[in-house]
Amino acid sequence: MQKPDLTVDNEARSSGRIQRANSLAGDVYEAIFGQLMSLRIAPGSRITVDNLVKEFNVSHTPIREALGRLEGEGLVVKTHLIGFRAAPQITRRRFDELYELRLLLEPAAAAKATATLDDERLAVLQEAAGVMARRVGKDERLRYSNFARQDAIFHDKIVEFAQNELIRETLNHQHTHFHIFRLMYHSRVTEEALDEHEAILAAFAAGDPDASEKAMRVHIENSRDRLLPAFE
Ligand SMILES: [Zn+2]
Repeated sequence: MQKPDLTVDNEARSSGRIQRANSLAGDVYEAIFGQLMSLRIAPGSRITVDNLVKEFNVSHTPIREALGRLEGEGLVVKTHLIGFRAAPQITRRRFDELYELRLLLEPAAAAKATATLDDERLAVLQEAAGVMARRVGKDERLRYSNFARQDAIFHDKIVEFAQNELIRETLNHQHTHFHIFRLMYHSRVTEEALDEHEAILAAFAAGDPDASEKAMRVHIENSRDRLLPAFE
C-alpha cells in the first residue's frame, strides 16, 4: 500500500463524523473505498488491517467489516494466509471483453427501458444523473469515487427498468464501474460522461427507443475510448 493519506481521516475527524458510533463502519468503508478508487491504495497492493487501524484510529471491527464489504464489491481480494489485497487492475483483454459485453447488452436495454419509463422512473434516472453533476465536497478523491458509484447506479437503474434480471445480474457481477474508474483518475473521465448521460435522458424523455439505444451506444463507445490510453 502507498503511504497512507490522512486527509480523509482528518477531515472526517474534525467534522466529528468518524466518531459517531452509528456511522463509524460506514465512514471507514467510505474512506477506504475512496482510497481504492483514486489508486491511493494501488491495485494489487497488500492491505494491512493493522495499518488501517492506526491510520483511522479505530478498532479492527469496522476495518474488517469495510474490507468484507469491499470484497463483495470486487475491489478487495482476500487470499488464504496472505490476507487482503486491492483487486488487481483490469487487463486490456478483460477490458475489451467487458466493453464488448456492455455494447451488446446496454444499448438494447436502454431501448427496451424507454417503453417502461413513466414520470416516476424518469425522475429516478434524472436524480441519479443529477447527483453526478453536483460537485459537492472538497475532497477530489471522494467526489471521484462517488461519481463511479452513481454511474453504476444510473446504468443499473436503466437495466432494471428494461426488466431482464439476468442481464442485470450479469452486468452487476462484473463490478464494471469500480474497475473502469480505477483505470484512470482524471476529471475528463467524469465531465464528458455527464453530457452523454444528458443525451440518454433526453432520448428517454422523448420516448424514442432508437435514440435511447444510440445514445447509450455512443456513451459506452466514448467511455471505452476515454479509458484506452490507460493501457498505453
Ligand atoms: Zn455512464
